Amino acid sequence: MERNPHQPTTPEPSTPDVLPTGFTTASCFLVACRTCNGAFDEESEGVYHFPSIAAAADALTDAGWWLTQDGVQCDMCAAKESCARYGHAWEPWRLCRCGGRIPVHFVQMDVRHCVSCQAHEERPATACAEGDR
Ligand SMILES: [Zn+2]
Ligand SMILES: [Zn+2]
Ligand SMILES: [Zn+2]
Repeated sequence: MERNPHQPTTPEPSTPDVLPTGFTTASCFLVACRTCNGAFDEESEGVYHFPSIAAAADALTDAGWWLTQDGVQCDMCAAKESCARYGHAWEPWRLCRCGGRIPVHFVQMDVRHCVSCQAHEERPATACAEGDR
C-alpha cells in the first residue's frame, strides 16, 4: 500500500495551554557527570528526577558523587581526576593469586590496586625482596 505523499502528517503532540483538571506540570532536576556525561541513575531504576537541587545534592553525595564549584562528577571520574592530581592511593603490593591462570602471569606477579580509582599495577614478584609484603 502506497502512502499518499499529500496526506497531511499528524502534528507532534504538544502540551495544551489548558491542562485537564488533575494534571500539573512539574520541573525537576536531572544530574549527569560533567566529565563523562553519565546520568545519575540507578541500574534498572532509570534516571533520577529530583524536586530540588538540595535533594539532588544529598542523593549525589550519598552515592559517592562529588558536587563542587566545578559541577557534578561521578565517583569514577572524581576518583580519576584526584588520582591524576594527587597520585594514586595504592594499597600494598600483594601476591597475585591467579596461580598462572592469567596467561601473562607466567611468573608469580605482585599486584596492587588504587583504592580510589580502581587502577591496578603489577610487577614480577621477584622484583621485590621478601618481607615487602
Ligand atoms: Zn563521570
Ligand atoms: Zn587511582
Ligand atoms: Zn596472576
